[in-house]
Amino acid sequence: MEGFETRLACLKERIRAAERAAGRNEGEVSLVAVSKTHGAVAIARAYRCGLRHFGENYLQEAAAKQDSLGHFDIGWHFIGPIQSNKTRLVAQRFAWVHGVERLKTAERLNAHRPDFFPRLNVCLQVNISGEASKSGVDPREVPTLLEAMAPLPRLRLRGLMAIPAPDDREAEQRGTFARMRELFDRVAPIYGMDTLSMGMSDDLEAAILEGSTQIRIGTALFGARPKPIAANNP
Ligand SMILES: *Cc1c(COP(=O)(O)O)cnc(C)c1O
Repeated sequence: MEGFETRLACLKERIRAAERAAGRNEGEVSLVAVSKTHGAVAIARAYRCGLRHFGENYLQEAAAKQDSLGHFDIGWHFIGPIQSNKTRLVAQRFAWVHGVERLKTAERLNAHRPDFFPRLNVCLQVNISGEASKSGVDPREVPTLLEAMAPLPRLRLRGLMAIPAPDDREAEQRGTFARMRELFDRVAPIYGMDTLSMGMSDDLEAAILEGSTQIRIGTALFGARPKPIAANNP
């Protein structure tokens, strides 16, 4: 388990270096530890190292970990695709949802969010790379969708999220993140949104240089992922 602490120290240094290079304040970028496929023990370890926000993609897998870590003060982020028959569980078990891409999904999350819970924090997923990546809203449709979602009382619009098509070239990565940032800057003030969720293990520097406020990191923290077991993750 020493590996985790080393990886966390490395990651923090990468984040700090990127913040400095971008002329941003240290600690400005928040970290969501993506714990999908890793067990409750790995999460507890990360928690003891000070991490408080964890991202999960698969509902059943996440629910089991949440149940065993119920006494931890964790902000759970649902970052996977949201099937419409799963909106109730997502709305009941998570503080944040990043993969919203349709009004229908937002309406269902709103309807299922318990009244006595704080509002569910929502990021719209944007298909910023076009063709290559299929999830997310077309950037041109973002303003209309946000306008339609804004009145939903149990949701709190927090920002935009993107998973660009993989590309090793830093200039390309930065160009894509810069387009996200422009879009974010246009719509964020209208809804008081504060979160631009972009950057993963392989492209966090480019994301931070272009204004990401929240990165979602799996591999660089927990190591390589085993393949998810299909039967557990329908
Ligand atoms: C898996 C995943 C991540 C983390 O990816 P790494 O490359 O392992 O850091 C981030 N965001 C989403 C939506 C993911 O599904």
